[in-house]
Amino acid sequence: MIIIKKLISIMTAFVLMLYGFVGLSSNVSDDYTEGKYKNVILMIGDGMSFNNLEATKAVRGVKLAMETMPVKTNSDINSFILPYTDSAAGGTALSSGIRVWVNSLAVFPVNPVITSLSDNVPVTIAELAKANGKAAGIVTTDETSGATPSAFSAHALSRTLEKDISKDQLKTGFDLIWGGASESINEENTAENGWTYIDSETDMMALEEGSRSFAQFDFDDLKYVKNEHDTPTIAEMTEKAIDLLSADEDGFFLMVEGACIDKHAHDNDMENMTLSAAEFDKAVAAALAFAEKDGETLVVVTADHGTGGMKYNAEKDEYYFTSGSHDLDNVPVFVSAEDAGFTTGSEVENRQIPVQIARIFGYGEDMFPAVK
Ligand SMILES: [Zn+2]
Repeated sequence: MIIIKKLISIMTAFVLMLYGFVGLSSNVSDDYTEGKYKNVILMIGDGMSFNNLEATKAVRGVKLAMETMPVKTNSDINSFILPYTDSAAGGTALSSGIRVWVNSLAVFPVNPVITSLSDNVPVTIAELAKANGKAAGIVTTDETSGATPSAFSAHALSRTLEKDISKDQLKTGFDLIWGGASESINEENTAENGWTYIDSETDMMALEEGSRSFAQFDFDDLKYVKNEHDTPTIAEMTEKAIDLLSADEDGFFLMVEGACIDKHAHDNDMENMTLSAAEFDKAVAAALAFAEKDGETLVVVTADHGTGGMKYNAEKDEYYFTSGSHDLDNVPVFVSAEDAGFTTGSEVENRQIPVQIARIFGYGEDMFPAVK
């Protein structure tokens, strides 16, 4: 057994070397102050392409808070080998700083079977923050075992392994994991693992500092921005999550996902896609309001990929979907401060984003991306 473990370690080191995790060809600059931002809120609009944002403004007649952020740039969406991705591989690039096979969640791409069965998995930025004394939280409008939240809080060969993913999530020491109800999460197993189980906005608002909570809200309410089951909006979840996590003196890492931009774009449902994007932007506004007041919080808004191939017809002055799947184009990156190493107009790699967050936290380049 020791020999096998040793072998896995050697293989993992080899994989790390092979893919040059350290010292990525970098468009993020050294122009940042280590430790200036003790809190980072990473906000991921699933399926949120540039044109999905344009359509949202046009259809709903709204202005977007994220577009007021001082740094506006873009990121590629590549997964391991491919210039295409899904939310599992896209989420892993954003959580762990590595590119993996489509469908897989924070496991190494070369020996994923072995590594997913061993302890040799890449650490996620949420796990790293928690291990270094910060509070860590996950907020999503997807089910809690959805691909994006899972990429930050679980390690699995496939996003379809809901049982394994939920089991991993229960074992994290995170302070909160909130989203739509997942099959394997219940009052009993959350309590066994030291979580407070909640399933309503009333429960959520009653949470106090120092609590650890696992939320299982009504997914349909989250998806269609309804409130038939005492369900909070993504902006309400974000505000309360910040409220709870910011009680930690060491700071916090929070990931917030607007999941249903992607889901409605797959269905070419313009009404609900734009509604979900506008709701996600309200959560961004809430995060920005806190960051401005706090002064030690950085907000990064991006997407794992675009969805729906949104195009504009100038003659009709109208946006329209051209596909039911994921786009290959670069996605938006908005950053709330100019001294975080991100530069307007300078394309970044998706996997650079968590690496840069780790640098900002002062964890150093050798510590991340890294093996858990
Ligand atoms: Zn999708």
